Amino acid sequence: GAHLYDEQDPLVSLEKGAHSLLLNSSSCWVAQFFASWCGHCQNFKSSWMVLANDVKDWRPAVYLAVLDCAEESNTKMCKDFGVQGFPTVQFFNTFSKNPSDGIKLYNRDPDQMRQFIIDKLEAQKESPPPACPPLEPISAPEVDTFFENNDESYLALIFEEPETYMAREVALDMVQYQGVSVRRVLKDESELVEKFKVTSFPTGFLLCKNGSVSKINLKEESRAHYTRFLRSLPGVRKVIINLVTWSADPVDDTVVRRAVNSSVIYMADLESSIHYSLRVEVARFTVLHGDRLRSLINYISVLKKYFPARPYLRSLLDYLYAWLNKQRAKLVPYKDFADAVNGKNLEENAVLTPHADFVWCQGSKPEFRGFPCSVWTLYHLLTVRAAQLGTEQTKEVLRTMRGYVRSFFGCTGCAHHFEQMAKESMNSVRSLDEAIRWLWFSHNRVNKRLAGDATEDPDFPKIQWPPKELCADCQKMVGNNLTWDEPAVLRFMKTHFSENNLSYDYLE
Ligand code: FAD
Repeated sequence: GAHLYDEQDPLVSLEKGAHSLLLNSSSCWVAQFFASWCGHCQNFKSSWMVLANDVKDWRPAVYLAVLDCAEESNTKMCKDFGVQGFPTVQFFNTFSKNPSDGIKLYNRDPDQMRQFIIDKLEAQKESPPPACPPLEPISAPEVDTFFENNDESYLALIFEEPETYMAREVALDMVQYQGVSVRRVLKDESELVEKFKVTSFPTGFLLCKNGSVSKINLKEESRAHYTRFLRSLPGVRKVIINLVTWSADPVDDTVVRRAVNSSVIYMADLESSIHYSLRVEVARFTVLHGDRLRSLINYISVLKKYFPARPYLRSLLDYLYAWLNKQRAKLVPYKDFADAVNGKNLEENAVLTPHADFVWCQGSKPEFRGFPCSVWTLYHLLTVRAAQLGTEQTKEVLRTMRGYVRSFFGCTGCAHHFEQMAKESMNSVRSLDEAIRWLWFSHNRVNKRLAGDATEDPDFPKIQWPPKELCADCQKMVGNNLTWDEPAVLRFMKTHFSENNLSYDYLE
C-alpha cells in the first residue's frame, strides 16, 4: 500500500497492476512512482495533491496514479516502468503499448504539470481519450455549423491569447457535464474576433441552440468563475461516470514499537540495509555495467573487508565478491546478480536476510526513517571498522559510499546533496580517522538542514549528534554556540560504531 496516499485522495493506486491500468487504456494517465521513505517524495506530496485536486474533474479523460516503489512487492512493476529515482512522474498517452512509453515530467510545479498535461492531451490527435473535449481552437466555419453537428444546448466561446490555458482548462473542467461545449478562439482568429467585436482577452460568449448569443459577464475572467457559471446553466447536468478509483489492499499502518536502546547498534538494521540495497535498490537496473557495476563491486568489496558479518552472510559476501570479480568489464543482468545474492548455485549456507526489519531505525510511522537511517549507520560503522582494521586507502569507504549513493540511492534529491558535499570536501580527507570525522560532520550538516522539516519523525528529531546523553564530553557550549571536542567525538565514534557495541536482538 502507498503510505503517503490513500483512498480519500482523487488518485488511483497502481498496486493491483500498473500494466493493466496505464497501458492500453482509453484514458491518459499521469503516474507518480515514489518511495515512502524518501524525504523529497514526502515534500512533493503537497504539490502533487494540489495537482490531483485541481484536475480531479478531468477524469476519466486523465487520471492521476501513484505507486510506492519502497514496497518490495512493487519492485518489479517499478523496474518495468524504468523507475530509477524518486519521485518519478510519467505521462501515458491513451493506448500506450509499453511501460517505456511513459513521458517523464521533470517540472514539479502544479501549474506547470497541469499545463504539461493539457499540451499532451491536445497533441494526442490519433486517439484522444473519448471523454476529452476538443482542445484545439475553433474556426469560424465550425462555429457557424456547430449546432447542426452537435446536440449540446450551448456553445461557450472563450477568446484568449494563444499562450494561455484557461479556455482549455474550463473545457476539461466540464468533462463530467453534458449540455455545453467549451471552445477557445485565439486572438488572431480575426474573422470571429471582429464578428463578436472582442477587444479584450479573455472574453466569453455563450451561444444557444435557439440562436441567441450573449456575452458572458463574470466578476472575474478566471477559470473558476467560468466553470461555476457553465455548470449552473439550465439544462447542463453532471453525468454519472464509473470512474476508476483507489483500490489497494488496506495498509496496516500500525507500527509495533519495540524497546530499543539508543546506545547500541543493531545488527538487524545493518543486515536490513544490505538486503534492501541489493534486492530493491540495485534491482532497479536491468543490466549493470560501467560506473554502476564498479560502484556495486566496491560496495561488496568494502562489506567483505570491513563488515562484521555473521557467518552465513560472511560466506555470501565472499561468494558475491568472487562472482562479481569474474564479471568485471561485462554487462551483468540484474537477474544473474539476484541469483547470486540468493545463493542459487551455492551448496554451503550463505544467506542474506530476506526482509527489511528495522529496529533502531524503525520510525514511528511507516514512512519515517527505515532505509536511509540504516544507510548512514552502515557507513559510519564501515568508516570506523576500516580505521580499526587499517588500510592504505584512506578514502576507500567514503568513495564507496559516494559511488553507491550516486549509482543506486533512490532518493535522487538526497544523492544530489550528498554529491555536492563530497565534491566540496571529501578530497581533503587524509587519514582513516579523518574519514570517520568527515562522515560524522557531513551527517550533522544534513541533520541541520532537515531539522524541523516535514519529513522529520517527531519521535526522533534531527539533532546535532551525538547528544549529551550519549557522550557527555563531546559537546561544549561556548556562549550560546555548540562546539565539539573533536578528539572526544572521534573516541566516541570508535566505541559507538565498534563490533563490541553491536546488538543481535530482534534478529531471526
Ligand atoms: P538519520 O539521519 O538517518 O540517522 C540515523 C542514525 O544515525 C541516527 O538515529 C543517529 O543514531 C545516528 N546519527 C545521527 N547523526 C549522526 C552523525 N552526525 N554521525 C553519526 N551518527 C549519527 N533526506 C532528505 O530529506 N533530504 C536530503 O537531502 C537527504 N540526504 C541524504 C543523504 C544520504 C547520503 C542519506 C543516507 C540520507 C539522506 N536523507 C535525506 C535522509 C535523512 O538524512 C535521514 O536518513 C532520514 O530522514 C531518516 O532520519 P533518522 O531520524 O532516522 O536519522
